[in-house]
Amino acid sequence: MLLETNAITVADEARALEARHGNLDPAQIIELAITQLFKQDIAVVSSFGAESSVLLHLIAQVDRALPVLFLETGKHFPATLRYRDQLVHELGLTDVQDIHPLKQSLKDEDPFGALSMTNKDRCCYIRKVEPMARAVAPYRAWMTGRKQFQASTRTALPVFESVGARVRINPLARWTSADLKAYMAANQLPPHPLVAEGYRSIGCMPCTSPVKDGEDDRAGRWAGTDKTECGIHLTGLTDQLSNISLTDS
Ligand code: SF4
Repeated sequence: MLLETNAITVADEARALEARHGNLDPAQIIELAITQLFKQDIAVVSSFGAESSVLLHLIAQVDRALPVLFLETGKHFPATLRYRDQLVHELGLTDVQDIHPLKQSLKDEDPFGALSMTNKDRCCYIRKVEPMARAVAPYRAWMTGRKQFQASTRTALPVFESVGARVRINPLARWTSADLKAYMAANQLPPHPLVAEGYRSIGCMPCTSPVKDGEDDRAGRWAGTDKTECGIHLTGLTDQLSNISLTDS
């Protein structure tokens, strides 16, 4: 009951933050979130994907020691892991945490590493949703790199939103693809090497393919299936978090 009440309060808080600060520039939103709103109680979740350098660069201008949570699913492209190391080095990030699936879950449900071929929802659950809930549990808020233009399912994405009793912040929600490209060029940020091969949204290797001109950036994620999200942004995460109090680690 306490958590339920807290979740309602946080939902009101997120709506108020959106009304008051949702139209600020991403740099202002990030500075506000880190230095005033959440201070030591905030992290960023990054996939080190096609456009991740923008959010990480903006954050590095404010606090290079902000915790960066990376879901190490065990299924990433080797190029993504090399790119992660390159960005961490170039931006001077000092607290990048690899978040792994539970060993017992892998042993019980995916002993041969082939679950992505037979049950993608369950594979995403044990490799992404549960680790994500565990990773963000110590914080009151976390930031993501999601944008409205990325997919038809994200056109109404707010900057501030509640997830259970926590606040999720999407500082780049209103930026366009052109805004991101301009920022990357102006700051000479290195591109993910797979972008040149037609990958515009990059996740796990078994479930990511290049996209054609005119397609959503996320059309290459789980292509050929009905699946459009891994679940870390959906109700599965809310359900997981509802079982974790703000003081759980
Ligand atoms: Fe598994 Fe594919 Fe989900 Fe990665 S994206 S966790 S490989 S189903």
